[in-house]
Amino acid sequence: MNEPVLVGNGTVVTLGKNGKVITDGGVLYANGTIVEVGAFAALKPRAKSIIDARGRLIMPGLICAHHHLYSTFACGLGFAPAKNFVQVLENLWWKLDRALDLEDVFYSAVFPLARCIASGTTTIFDHHASPNAIGGSLSRIGDAVRQAGIRASLCYEVTDRNGAEGAKAGLDESAAWLDAVRQGPQGMLHGQVGVHAAMTVGKETLGRCVELARKFDTGLHIHVSESKFDPEDSQKKYNKRVVARLQDAGALGDKTLAVHCIHLDDRELDLLAETRTTVVHNPQSNMNNAVGWANIPKMLARGIPVALGTDGMTSNMLEEARASLFIRHHVSEDPSAGFMDTAKMLFETNAEVATRYFGRRLGVLEAGAAADLIIVDHIPFTPISADNVFGHLLFGAAAERVQTTICNGQVLMKDGLLTTLDMEQLAKQTASRTVSTWQRFQKI
Ligand SMILES: [Zn+2]
Repeated sequence: MNEPVLVGNGTVVTLGKNGKVITDGGVLYANGTIVEVGAFAALKPRAKSIIDARGRLIMPGLICAHHHLYSTFACGLGFAPAKNFVQVLENLWWKLDRALDLEDVFYSAVFPLARCIASGTTTIFDHHASPNAIGGSLSRIGDAVRQAGIRASLCYEVTDRNGAEGAKAGLDESAAWLDAVRQGPQGMLHGQVGVHAAMTVGKETLGRCVELARKFDTGLHIHVSESKFDPEDSQKKYNKRVVARLQDAGALGDKTLAVHCIHLDDRELDLLAETRTTVVHNPQSNMNNAVGWANIPKMLARGIPVALGTDGMTSNMLEEARASLFIRHHVSEDPSAGFMDTAKMLFETNAEVATRYFGRRLGVLEAGAAADLIIVDHIPFTPISADNVFGHLLFGAAAERVQTTICNGQVLMKDGLLTTLDMEQLAKQTASRTVSTWQRFQKI
């Protein structure tokens, strides 16, 4: 495990600021850290063991900046048709999260974690809700994450929608988790203070969330103006736009993730830029919920960091990046728009955000960075270089399977087989549980 391992005999895509493409390359790592990246033949004598990429693509593990692991149990679940986004919340998500017990929380996390590994996602930022099983929920997800072997920043979504007791329980769970990760080993598990959305937290609860985040030197992870209902609610109750309200509460800053940000005006965009708050774009979810499109070019023009997440729709980041590109083409009616912006979101900003949070250099293959890397079943059959590598990733690698996934030097999947999770066994255990979870859902 601690001996130098060489992942090589493939095309290495380093990404990072001075991204290189090395044909016949390799990545040598030991003790969870990359020692050197270079020519396969030169590194081979220093390796104690070799993982042979057989001509395929070797690249950094991918990063998801917004996930909902618990959403898995909605797979195949029937619910009353929704006519708008609030009804999507009321008819599906706010019933499903209430139906979860603590063991559901564990099992609903395991499957998307397996999909993360299978699609090469080695770091996630998760946002969790289970109003009838709040206490201990993050540590149960933490158990699943440890078993899977990837990196995760977890948070519980604090909200007033379940009364003052529910809000307090969410804050208590957040504090307990943040305390636990602060005292535990660094670099694999992290935490933020989750807030559902401005429209479901009052002044007092929002203030407590900001206070808690400051105490633990972390940021908020909050849905911001995902639908038009959020700004309408804010205007009505507080006579100000959502981002202005968050700014006044001290909720913005470079540690906060503002998720969606679809219905913002120019002043709100300026506030996000001034405070260096990271926006997380989730195009597949936005299209599925028919809530609109976040104006990414306007954000980037102001210098707002824009990261990419999936909102629980998938764990596959290359799939999400393609969706981001296609919706941009569609909305702008310009087939050339947004290619480099999409690459920047997934390969630069996600890496910067994850590096800031986890205290390890992530999303890049270079000496000193974390040994988080994947082999994708893409054998470049057209010329590949640093100039056209994103074309290979979005139009080649994205359509192929990930063969091998390594996180912190641990092999989590080898040649398509998961090493840390017994999916057949877990599927049997989970299928028997979900019958009663769905029965509870139908009665809520
Ligand atoms: Zn979300």
